[in-house]
Amino acid sequence: MSPHCLVLGGTQDARSLCLALAEFPAVQITLSLAGALGETARESFFSRMPPSMTKRISLRVGGFGGADGLARYISEQNVSFLVDATHPYAACMSAHAVEAARKTGIEIVRLERPPWRRHENEIWIEADDLFDAAQKIPFGATCLLAVGRQSLLPFHPITHCRFVVRSIAPSDLEGFRAPVETIQSLPGASVAAEESLMRDLGITCLVSKNSGGERAFHKVAAAHNLGLDIVMVARPSLPQCRQYCDVKSVMEELISHFGAD
Ligand code: NAP
Repeated sequence: MSPHCLVLGGTQDARSLCLALAEFPAVQITLSLAGALGETARESFFSRMPPSMTKRISLRVGGFGGADGLARYISEQNVSFLVDATHPYAACMSAHAVEAARKTGIEIVRLERPPWRRHENEIWIEADDLFDAAQKIPFGATCLLAVGRQSLLPFHPITHCRFVVRSIAPSDLEGFRAPVETIQSLPGASVAAEESLMRDLGITCLVSKNSGGERAFHKVAAAHNLGLDIVMVARPSLPQCRQYCDVKSVMEELISHFGAD
């Protein structure tokens, strides 16, 4: 039986890892997505993939039912290696992954891109979590909320500012007490594009997760260039497991585990 690698996804790195793994025919690959986007997740995954690869990677969508459900899936599907390549703020899934790997005795590694480091000349208002971030928004701000549409609840009770919510998929604005509008788009492709957007919208404050990566940083650089307030939400702490910061390093680990065929 070929070894089976389960990749917990929801990030570009997870997709890249699956594509790299697909070059090794001896390894069975399953990519798991949370499914917040429903069937769109499936369509979007396969539409951006070379056809030859779609046969190599099985996609499953939806939760497992906690750590016990994931442990059951691992046993039933004979998964022999687990890669947690979820977003650094997907703390529940990462905790379940470590717990399920412990229960089933399989290997687990986490693929997590490094957080951004504040440069000496930058000023960030550091927030412990999203609730803390909501409390730290300056009075009277016009605030670009770029934290993901699933992370808006902590900002609902705030009344002393105006919000512009940016998200890739449509956001539910129900529950906000402050004036709020939404723009549906990907993060800007350049610092200049982000600066232009922020100027057009009259943004005075940016709230961001510390997601890491180059493209997502454009908004932070733009806010800095424009002298805006930047509220940076710290990453949640996750249970320990072996961790790598790029696809190449995880691939080396997997090749040494599965062999190079
Ligand atoms: P979360 O709070 O850690 O997870 C909530 C529940 O969603 C988990 O307990 C699990 O349900 C299910 N789930 C999450 N990731 C899954 C996966 N890859 N495969 C199957 N089930 C999964 O996660 P979240 O913050 O809501 O994020 C959801 C997904 O969006 C994650 O996959 C993450 O990589 C991606 N994402 C998150 C963010 C963010 O800022 N949080 C940003 C970009 C992408 P069960 O307990 O039923 O198994």
